[in-house]
Amino acid sequence: MPSASTVQTLTQLSYLIAAALFILGLKRMSSPVTAVSGVRWAGLGMLLATLVTLAFMGASPLNLVLVIAAIAIGGIVAWVSGKRVAMTDMPQMIALYNGMGGGAAAAIAAVELYSGNEHNIVHLTMASVGGFIGAVSFSGSLIAFGKLQGLITKSVRFGGQKFLNLAILLVTVALGVMVVTGTHSGPTVVCAFFAFALLLGVAMTLPIGGADMPVVISLYNALTGLAVGFEGFVLDNAAMIIAGTVVGAAGTLLTQLMAKAMNRSLSNVLFSNFGETSSAGSASVTGTQKAIEASDAGVMLAYSQKVIIVPGYGLAVAQAQHKVWELAQLLIDRGVQVRFAIHPVAGRMPGHMNVLLAEAGVPYELISDLDEINAEFETADVALIIGANDVVNPDARTNKGSPIYGMPILNADKAKNVIVIKRGQGTGFSGIDNALFVLDQTRMLYGDAQAAVSQLIQAVKAAG
Ligand code: NDP
Repeated sequence: MPSASTVQTLTQLSYLIAAALFILGLKRMSSPVTAVSGVRWAGLGMLLATLVTLAFMGASPLNLVLVIAAIAIGGIVAWVSGKRVAMTDMPQMIALYNGMGGGAAAAIAAVELYSGNEHNIVHLTMASVGGFIGAVSFSGSLIAFGKLQGLITKSVRFGGQKFLNLAILLVTVALGVMVVTGTHSGPTVVCAFFAFALLLGVAMTLPIGGADMPVVISLYNALTGLAVGFEGFVLDNAAMIIAGTVVGAAGTLLTQLMAKAMNRSLSNVLFSNFGETSSAGSASVTGTQKAIEASDAGVMLAYSQKVIIVPGYGLAVAQAQHKVWELAQLLIDRGVQVRFAIHPVAGRMPGHMNVLLAEAGVPYELISDLDEINAEFETADVALIIGANDVVNPDARTNKGSPIYGMPILNADKAKNVIVIKRGQGTGFSGIDNALFVLDQTRMLYGDAQAAVSQLIQAVKAAG
């Protein structure tokens, strides 16, 4: 049996290696080329941290069996659900997993606070703050999951709601102070503290519209990281501190990136309905949409020199990525220059489109982000928009009254011709009309993205 100091050194060393693996993994996740290996490196770090904790935590045999049983059940559920989930359902899956992380951090805090052990005030403060953040993140993430899954269809809003939420926050903080200072720190107060923190997560998330949920999930992701970091201090666990801080920082950056790409502040997402703050709302788009047959659109594509494909949420819903790549390959074989243009918030979560296209086998060098591609639309013969809407709405550039004014968009309207595939005249996420669809050079190819692209494939083949 190694001495206590050897165990301590080995544990800390392993945690340091695990932390290095997390950071390396995260770095590799920043590019689609290395992302899969990044996930594996981070997973390896987590495995190492878990094994070391299990080996050296000195738990009783019964506790060890319980921990292993919990890991086995959780692992199997995660494996099966991870394998089965559709790409379009990924945001709610992340909400659920993220919520579990926050819940786990809150559970650690609950054990610390509930045990009634003698601790100094710093220790208790760390546990309470982490527990508070974790509990809010847990219940808030569950509501976000319910909204994205369509289980909660209404955004609950009423007069004085913000004051009620403020009151819940103040009561929670007061209970937390009582627990930390030991004025009234019995089990009832601890339970009430967690109950109010959970209630706050629910109350904060219920009024937010379902379509804003990905931003909210990203925020809760950051909060969960923070909560885990706090509980890492409580347990004196370096791996938790580093992993929590890394997740917290990454989640914060992602939240900022999403809000910026939608030209909205975080407070606007959290405290007001989409478009509520816009002065004039959307000035109505005048003009009519002009339809095109797939056969004509196919000929137009086949005889182009340069085609830029813009995928959006509708492509993900229709699972049309494989067909789109088949079409692109046909065009490339004919000597057409094909590029894919990705808006940072195309789809329903950042990276949504990149992952779909990568899954279909589209080479990364054909995929460009907004800054890279925008100047190229002017030289494109056709911009082929597939199930995208808001991210190509020129009103964002020109119409100050539009709720999406200021949001960076892909300049598809600058292409010589525009073909838009969508099922009908439905709006996108923002619920506003799209000025691009009525431009002279735009033609609408109505239909489900997968079926429409299949027709285009036949048409390009028939073009000889
Ligand atoms: P949009 O939601 O703006 O538009 C999608 C379009 O796809 C709709 O107009 C719809 O039209 C069409 N569509 C739906 N199903 C199909 C189908 N089966 N086949 C063909 N077309 C279909 O998507 P975008 O990707 O352009 O924009 C994303 C929006 O989501 C932005 O407003 C963004 O701010 C927002 N958002 C993005 C987040 C992110 O992180 N990515 C996070 C939160 C919000 P029709 O019904 O006529 O078919």
